[in-house]
Amino acid sequence: MGAEADKRCIVFLGPPGSGKGTQAEILAAEMEIPTISTGEMLRAAVSAGSELGERVEAVMASGALVDDDLMAEVVQARLEHDDTDGGFFLDGYPRTEIQAAHLDRILGEVGGRLGGVLFVTVPEEELVRRALARGRGDDRSEVIHERLRVYREQTAPLVAHYDSRGLLHRVAGHQAIEEVTDEIRRIVGALAA
Ligand code: AMP
Repeated sequence: MGAEADKRCIVFLGPPGSGKGTQAEILAAEMEIPTISTGEMLRAAVSAGSELGERVEAVMASGALVDDDLMAEVVQARLEHDDTDGGFFLDGYPRTEIQAAHLDRILGEVGGRLGGVLFVTVPEEELVRRALARGRGDDRSEVIHERLRVYREQTAPLVAHYDSRGLLHRVAGHQAIEEVTDEIRRIVGALAA
């Protein structure tokens, strides 16, 4: 490994409940790089009662997506921190075609690059089962279905988008956590080569 920083971004893409956040955190700890989770950042803002939190709370509770321009501001501000200079994972962003374009612009502005996109797939009935078992505050049944609908409509098109750019790597998420981690570790290792 050279001394020069490589601000490489690896995106974890997948439906809510696919386990992508868990996987990103396991691998990030191993690789000693940060995982930036927009959902976590927004939940922290809501808990802290910040201005951002007040702006996003109702939208989050409904299962809908926060405004693309607001998300771009949040993500750009975070990626300007130098803890991302040695590479980082992005979990939960981008989630719309517009956000994908924003991410390209932001990476250009902060001196980063998109190294790859890991698409974690899980059958929908398993997603619903997992979400109900997890039982977080915003995980009431109708919100779960709304989140899945929003995913299908707004986020799923990113699979074809990144596939056409040669950046997409599919991961079977419906296996034991360790097996999914092994698969992702192999893909990330091959990306670095
Ligand atoms: P998550 O934990 O990633 O499922 O995110 C929880 C909620 O935060 C989502 O349902 C959205 O309301 C909001 N959120 C997180 N990331 C984004 C994003 N990239 N764009 C818009 N809304 C987001």
